[in-house]
Amino acid sequence: MSVVGIDLGFQSCYVAVARAGGIETVANEYSDRCTPACISFGPKNRSIGAAAKSQVISNAKNTVQSFKRFHGRAFSDPFVQAEKASLAYELVQLPTGSTGIRAMYMEEERNFTIEQVTGMLLTKLKETAENALKKPVVDCVVSVPCFYTDAERRSVMDATQIAGLNCLKLINETTAVALAYGIYKPDLPTLEEKPRNVVFVDMGHSAYQVSVCAFNKGKLKVLATAFDTTLGGRKFDEVLVEYFCEEFGKKYKLDIKSKIRALLRLYQECERLKKLMSANASDLPMNIECFMNDIDVSGTMNRGKFLEMCEGLLARVEPPLRSVLEQARLKKEDIYAVEIVGGTTRIPAVKDKISKFFGKEVSTTLNADEAVARGCALQCAILSPAFKVREFSITDLIPYPISLRWNSPAGEDLSDCEVFPKNHPAPFSKVLTFYRKEPFTLEAYYSSPKELPYPDPAIAHFLVQKVTPQTDGSSSKVKVKVRINIHGIFSVSSASLVEVHKSDENEEPMETDQHAKEEEKMQVDEEQQKTEEQQQTQPENKAESEEMETSQADSKDKKVDQPPQAKKAKVKTTTVDLPIENQLVWQIGKDMLNLFIENEGKMIMQDKLEKERNDAKNAVEEYVYEMRDKLCGVYEKFVSEDDRNSFTLKLEDTENWLYEDGEDQPKQIYIDKLAELKTLGQPIQARFQESEERPKAFEDLGKQI
Ligand code: ATP
Ligand code: MG
Repeated sequence: MSVVGIDLGFQSCYVAVARAGGIETVANEYSDRCTPACISFGPKNRSIGAAAKSQVISNAKNTVQSFKRFHGRAFSDPFVQAEKASLAYELVQLPTGSTGIRAMYMEEERNFTIEQVTGMLLTKLKETAENALKKPVVDCVVSVPCFYTDAERRSVMDATQIAGLNCLKLINETTAVALAYGIYKPDLPTLEEKPRNVVFVDMGHSAYQVSVCAFNKGKLKVLATAFDTTLGGRKFDEVLVEYFCEEFGKKYKLDIKSKIRALLRLYQECERLKKLMSANASDLPMNIECFMNDIDVSGTMNRGKFLEMCEGLLARVEPPLRSVLEQARLKKEDIYAVEIVGGTTRIPAVKDKISKFFGKEVSTTLNADEAVARGCALQCAILSPAFKVREFSITDLIPYPISLRWNSPAGEDLSDCEVFPKNHPAPFSKVLTFYRKEPFTLEAYYSSPKELPYPDPAIAHFLVQKVTPQTDGSSSKVKVKVRINIHGIFSVSSASLVEVHKSDENEEPMETDQHAKEEEKMQVDEEQQKTEEQQQTQPENKAESEEMETSQADSKDKKVDQPPQAKKAKVKTTTVDLPIENQLVWQIGKDMLNLFIENEGKMIMQDKLEKERNDAKNAVEEYVYEMRDKLCGVYEKFVSEDDRNSFTLKLEDTENWLYEDGEDQPKQIYIDKLAELKTLGQPIQARFQESEERPKAFEDLGKQI
């Protein structure tokens, strides 16, 4: 059982693990804790992370980045269409209608789903964790933006499976930060005291998220979230890019946007300049050599001018801050602290806007880059039975109201009901009751499309199957459990039909199956009253009555009422589980997913083989250099002139070969080549070693005497 947390960022990813009793963010093979969200496809392998990032310009068309927000989106989605123009790689419409990524891989044009691409990135992050923990990693917690819809969440879940991970929870990024903040605080108010309200702000590369959480000892509750899903560092980069495109365009007569490589370089330089401006208010140069058509370009920028140009973006900082307070019905004075994370909160003007709004200094006690990953690892530790960690309960929320829609039994009327209002605690289950004679469909959708940063309010259709009338021909009571699960994903998780049998007054109530029993007790009595009420207002069984109850599944505080036994004795009921067929929006089928898992395995193997081949080649090269050096150095006395000359010649030939015919050979050829050289080198090396050890042997002998 591994304890691993993964911050799947738009630009940068971080991995945190539990090790030696603490949580730590671990470094990748470049000794860097940050792994770029980047994949580069080549003729023989893939590069992922830093190795891919270095190919953004040299292998522009086959290097994929900025893909995080394509999860769960159709190719025709306006967001995808808008992004398309600024990408160096190609997006395609997949047969399912979803967004795919096209690249040349292994000398073939290949289309990958977004789940596969994120799966590749996760493979890399998994390896990073495995190298740190020195054992295989399967269980993990992965972060997603708090505003992700079901389709986006399901898509990320599929990606984790492709990478061979078992994602115990998709945690909202701001909630992960809140956990990282709260779990180590020794002085949180007790359960009886007023909670401590803390605002968390995360502005990353692609998005801006705000949450307000209430903390008591051992628990946190997310009260509200708000967001601007397109406000992030890249928008600030774009401002600079636009400026210099125009400036250099005029000054040097260049059409920068016509050349993707030049544009990508400009993006890199502008981001660098933006970061410099966070620390430096004076004029800063912007020089790029051989920028386009062999022209060197230069310009200047300073913080004041930059901020003027960013006025529109900066105006977007405040509304989400105001929104969380309004939603949570809190005043600025009720806020104990404002914790900021995410790279873009380093822009002084962003920080100022936040602190001005709250009328207090913002806190930067958390690591701005690593807090999300640390929170994920903490959540994983809490969920892991094998790991001892402080008890900490987390109640998250759903950011958009969710409703169900269904046809009346006769089919003519459409009814609907909001099952989870905005900011309803999550995870959570509710039980709804329907009176039906036939199978029926429940359609789940986001009932406030205006606040949805996603074009399609549909969530899924759930067909409740095998519904039959009661033996007397009347409608059956069907209990349907709807659930927001641990990942924040909605589903109709189960359905059961209640068969009511009239029985003798004196007879003991018949026990129904064990798992349904308790819920049954909770429901039956109240249900009966409800049904009576409804039957008064709506005679006959035409209208489906609908009733909600919280189930005990997720909200431990909710006590189930025990109905008086006497009443219950009059009826005996049995419940029959009903199958539910899901028609989800954008779900990859099981077969497809298995195929992707298999393909990821093949690609991992291919990368491994290619690495071994390269290592074998490097070993030859290294041996050539080492021997050439030593033949004129320490080995000189241990080889005859003739032998030295012929060996040197051989080494030279090999070096030339490595740059020509030997540049791209199978692994075995390099292994054989090295062995061949070693037959010449080894006798020399042996003579040298012997002479090194001889005086030592005398010394030892001396000591003995
Ligand atoms: P997201 O949270 O949107 O998925 P992410 O997690 O990859 O994205 P972060 O790593 O939090 O994003 O932040 C990256 C952004 O922060 C980039 O736009 C980067 O340029 C910006 N950034 C980093 N350091 C600074 C700085 N000193 N000044 C200004 N911006 C900075
Ligand atoms: Mg982030």
